[in-house]
Amino acid sequence: MLSYTFPMYPNKEQRAILEFTLNGCRLMYNSLLEELKKQEKIDRKRVQHKIVELKEHNPDFNRVYSKTLQYECYRLFSNLTTLRNLKNNGKKVGRLRFKGKEWFKTVVYNQSGFWVEWKTEKRSVVHLSKIGSIKIKTHRSIDGCIKGLIIKKSCDRWYMILQTDAKRKNLKQGNKSIGIDLGIKSYLTCSNGEQVSNPKILERYLGTIASMQKQLSKKMKGSKNRLKTKKRLEKLYKKVADTRNDFIHKTTTMLVKRCKLIAVEKLGIKRMMEQPYYNARNIADASWNRFLQTLRYKAESAGCEIREIDPRGTTKTCSVCGNVKDMPLYKRMYVCNICGMSMDRDHNAAINILKKASGGMEWASVEGMKAYPMNQEISDNNLR
Ligand SMILES: [Zn+2]
Repeated sequence: MLSYTFPMYPNKEQRAILEFTLNGCRLMYNSLLEELKKQEKIDRKRVQHKIVELKEHNPDFNRVYSKTLQYECYRLFSNLTTLRNLKNNGKKVGRLRFKGKEWFKTVVYNQSGFWVEWKTEKRSVVHLSKIGSIKIKTHRSIDGCIKGLIIKKSCDRWYMILQTDAKRKNLKQGNKSIGIDLGIKSYLTCSNGEQVSNPKILERYLGTIASMQKQLSKKMKGSKNRLKTKKRLEKLYKKVADTRNDFIHKTTTMLVKRCKLIAVEKLGIKRMMEQPYYNARNIADASWNRFLQTLRYKAESAGCEIREIDPRGTTKTCSVCGNVKDMPLYKRMYVCNICGMSMDRDHNAAINILKKASGGMEWASVEGMKAYPMNQEISDNNLR
């Protein structure tokens, strides 16, 4: 299912109502969780019935759309299921927690109670039961039928997310085979020698975040200044996430459009052995995981094959003659003392990743040498 995000422009009064609704849903969620925690044997019907009781008890709840409140019961049990699944998969999990104000950000209209009035980009309106009619900016059109609406608060701004039944458009695969080496210096290096570097702006954000985190730790807990810094930090996190997602989407689409086979390394093996970075590494790891995830699903829908290989040896081996030598991290070039090949270390690794994925990692024989006489030829004929 595809979803589309649009900014909302509530006036002051509507902002207050939105806050009130958000808080109402949070209180409902927490009350239902409290009920659930009391139960010795889980009784979903009983939890559901609690909604009625709470509404009788506290008429404020009647100012929130009833289906939206009912959704909180669904949210609770779906959180429970997620937690249970994680546990079954051997992950260490805690218990469901009561949600504080900072942790509750969405109000859900999952079938009814809303209506979007499409006008011009700047004059569209969403009508929400028990909230009112709020201006929205509809800067893009949508495909499919609207199935649900989520109101989201993020960094003091309000957004409307429309969920539709439209399917993601399929990409068309290309006809190349390519190997990819993921790195820190350049984000990725392809076996044809092309490199994609991290967006510069991302590095700048990360630097700012690090220094702001330091500031935050020095500020008094509960002070106004601390809250201010925290809000600014949150905004930055969002920017980083947005920039990175955008970058990952563009890069993976570009790759899938060009290739029928993409060879990548399994993450976590080489990294452990090679990277002396601590902070940078964690950040990069998270982003590589995301990158591979996105690449996999895009490739699948386009019919492009992804082969994941064990990266051991790919850095140390000469991609031309198969010679193996030590490659400490500071050496950016692979210079082979047997065949004389010299190449950027990541480029060399990317070629090896592709070879390994195509089943050709046997350089020991003379034939192997003939198969890949010069890297120039590899990049021109097979890979570009
Ligand atoms: Zn060599």
